[in-house]
Amino acid sequence: AIDISGLRKAFGANEVLRGIDLRVGAGEVVCVIGPSGSGKSTLLRCVNLLEEPSAGTVRVAGAEITDPDVDIDAVRRRIGMVFQSFNLFPHLTAVGNVEIAQRKVLRRGRAEARRVALENLERVGLADKVGAYPAQLSGGQRQRVAIARALAMGPSVMLFDEPTSALDPELVGDVLGVMRGLAETGMTMLVVTHEMGFAREVADRVAFMDGGLVVEEGPPARVIDDPSHERTRTFLSRVL
Ligand code: ATP
Ligand code: MG
Repeated sequence: AIDISGLRKAFGANEVLRGIDLRVGAGEVVCVIGPSGSGKSTLLRCVNLLEEPSAGTVRVAGAEITDPDVDIDAVRRRIGMVFQSFNLFPHLTAVGNVEIAQRKVLRRGRAEARRVALENLERVGLADKVGAYPAQLSGGQRQRVAIARALAMGPSVMLFDEPTSALDPELVGDVLGVMRGLAETGMTMLVVTHEMGFAREVADRVAFMDGGLVVEEGPPARVIDDPSHERTRTFLSRVL
C-alpha cells in the first residue's frame, strides 16, 4: 500500500504540494488526473524520494520513506516507476535493458537476470522482440520494455507518470492493455494519466488534483461522470 499524509513540497516560494492525503491500498489502482502544473509529477516524485518532501509522511509497503533512518535504496527497489520518456539504453537490446538494473542494483547473476527479463518481456507481450534495440522498436514497444524493466525488479508498488502521453494514438492501447493486465494481477498502482477511459474502467478511485491539492477523490463513475466541484467539471470538459 501507499499512504500519503499531509504531504507538502515547495520549490523556494512556490508551494507545489499543499497538503496531500492519499491512500492506495494493497492491490488497488488509483488514477490521478488534473491540469498541467497541478503537482501530479511532483507527487509521484515525492513517493520515491526523487524529490524530498517539505513536510508530511509517505509510507510505502509499510516503510516510512520520509524517516531519516530508512534505507532509501532498499525502499526504492520496492517502487517501480514508469515515466513518459522511456530512458532505455540505446546500445542494449530489449532483454539487455531489462537485465541491467537487476545485475547492477540487485546483484543478480547473469542467468537469473536473463530468466527474469525474458519472463517479464513475455508478460508485456514482447517475447518476439527480446533481441531488438530500442531504435528498432515502436514507442509503445519501448514503453513496454520500460514496464518490463520496472517489473523485473520485483516491486511492491508501481508508479506511472503519463506513460502513454508521448505515444502515437494507435500505440496507446497496447500499453494501457499491459497496465490493465498488471492491475488484474493485483499490483498496487498509482497512475497519473489523461486517459479517462482507462481511469473509468481500471481505477478503483480517481483523485482530481488542482493547485497542489486533491480537490476531490472517489470512484471513477462519481468523479469522472458526476464531479462535485466546478474545477473538476471545467478540467473534464477540456479532456473528455
Ligand atoms: P503536467 O501535467 O504538465 O505534467 P504536473 O501536474 O505534473 O504537470 P508538476 O510537474 O508536478 O506538474 O509541476 C508542478 C509545479 O512545480 C510547476 O509549477 C513546476 O514549475 C514546479 N516544479 C516542478 N519541479 C520543479 C523543480 N525541480 N524545481 C522548481 N520547480 C519545480
Ligand atoms: Mg507531470
